[in-house]
Amino acid sequence: MNNNSSIHSLPEQPRIFEMFIDGQWTRGSATKSVTRYSPSHNLPVSVYPSGSAEDVDSAVTAARRAFEQGTWARGTGESRSVVLLKTAELIRKHSEELALCETFETGKPIAQSRGEVLAAAGIWEYAAGQARALHGDAFNNLGEDMLGLVTREPVGVVGLITPWNFPFFILAERLPFILASGCTVVVKPSELTSGTTLILAGLLQQAGLPAGVVNVLTGPGSVVGQRICEHADIDMVSFTGSTEVGRLTLAAAGGNMKKIGLELGGKNPQVVFADADLDAAADAIVFGICFNAGQCCVSGSRLLVHRSVEQSLTAKILKLLEQVKIGDPLDESTQVGSITEQRQMERILGYVDQGRREGAELLTGGHRIDSAQGMYVQPAVFAQVTAQMTIAREEIFGPVLTITAFDDFDQAMSIANDTPFGLAASIWSRDLNTSLRAMRQIKAGRVWVNTTIAGGPELPSGGFKQSGIGRETGRYGVEEYTEVKSVHLQLGDRPRWIQA
Ligand code: NDP
Repeated sequence: MNNNSSIHSLPEQPRIFEMFIDGQWTRGSATKSVTRYSPSHNLPVSVYPSGSAEDVDSAVTAARRAFEQGTWARGTGESRSVVLLKTAELIRKHSEELALCETFETGKPIAQSRGEVLAAAGIWEYAAGQARALHGDAFNNLGEDMLGLVTREPVGVVGLITPWNFPFFILAERLPFILASGCTVVVKPSELTSGTTLILAGLLQQAGLPAGVVNVLTGPGSVVGQRICEHADIDMVSFTGSTEVGRLTLAAAGGNMKKIGLELGGKNPQVVFADADLDAAADAIVFGICFNAGQCCVSGSRLLVHRSVEQSLTAKILKLLEQVKIGDPLDESTQVGSITEQRQMERILGYVDQGRREGAELLTGGHRIDSAQGMYVQPAVFAQVTAQMTIAREEIFGPVLTITAFDDFDQAMSIANDTPFGLAASIWSRDLNTSLRAMRQIKAGRVWVNTTIAGGPELPSGGFKQSGIGRETGRYGVEEYTEVKSVHLQLGDRPRWIQA
């Protein structure tokens, strides 16, 4: 446990937020509020209005009006890019305020929050470029009398529902791309972590975003989120969160056949072949399971290792885990902070119990660390895990690593793909042939070779199978929020059907 004294202090009073609808700060129709307690200190840090279906309707009306009025949607890519770049500049200027708010609400280490906020600013800058780069296609090979065009148009009003694990970063992977495409938006952050999204709404206003283009609602997912998914005047929903709620959003979106983007759970393999650099792999595996206290959809939670190196890799992992600094997220040197929610901590500890009951061998951790405040879980490592055990199949969303040995390449690939998920995978081998064969065979939207959780806005992210639909970031991330229109342009006379 990291017990150094904190260098940042908690707010004396919780910050009182309002919702942001049609360019105005408002409580909307809310009669109740949601108070968010810091998971690491159990002090109230933020208060938001508990929005209602009626507030969703007002926000959608504003977003629709802003879309149809056209200043944003039909303006130049350049004009949108200017606002996105200004927003990035303001995010950098307010990075400390944003990082502290993120840490207060999520319990993640302040150094990590700061890194995520600055990386988010970089994504906004990248998306500004995409606003100008977005284009269609031309077909000049259809004969003398015909020219073909493919144009892209913004989809319309987008409902954006985000989770609590990376509130500001996940928002940055979506919102600037949605805006770059020319769409208008109704955003619903998790009621646990809405602060940084609301701060961002103020920054967007300062950056010159027209009223109604971005609206932010707070309140319970089962009310506000559900209404967004069902709303007949929303053209597309982008949802990030659990596979179970993703399924609900898919059903609700069926009413008016909305376009849908989903990024859901993962049970991501770390496949280590016998020739791998085991020191490099061990460090990445420890990072991959501890990062964000394991509450990370791309966390490498399933270690598949060649039987010949299982013992030595396991020993290296256990040694490195002893050095991980777990504790007060306000301490600059902390690497792993608090679990974000009581329910989530109970879920993690429940899986640890289940792993034991199903016969896996708990080598270390898996318990709540004794501390006056905060919900700190000692990272767990389970050996002798079979591919059928619950802890190897379900997304735990906590610092729990399972180890399963394999004997040959084909068996490794078969276990890696034996999951309903397909979000991410890491491959460790010094042999290019082995790495590339594995990269081709693993069914996952993101693959890392000799590294893990590497990222950046240039490459797309998203999942195969039940890990999602669609892609975020990269040029794909902006195209996702467009409709494609094909145009045949007749040059000269159209051949007549009925001869004169
Ligand atoms: P949810 O899927 O419930 O939350 C994600 C978002 O959906 C939140 O904004 C939530 O709002 C909203 N929401 C909740 N119910 C509905 C609904 N009926 N219609 C529309 N939106 C809704 O995740 P949980 O917080 O319940 O976490 C449970 C598990 O989900 C975790 O243990 C983890 O396994 C997984 N998860 C995966 C994530 C990922 O990035 N892949 C991220 C977060 C969780 P609100 O929070 O206000 O209720």
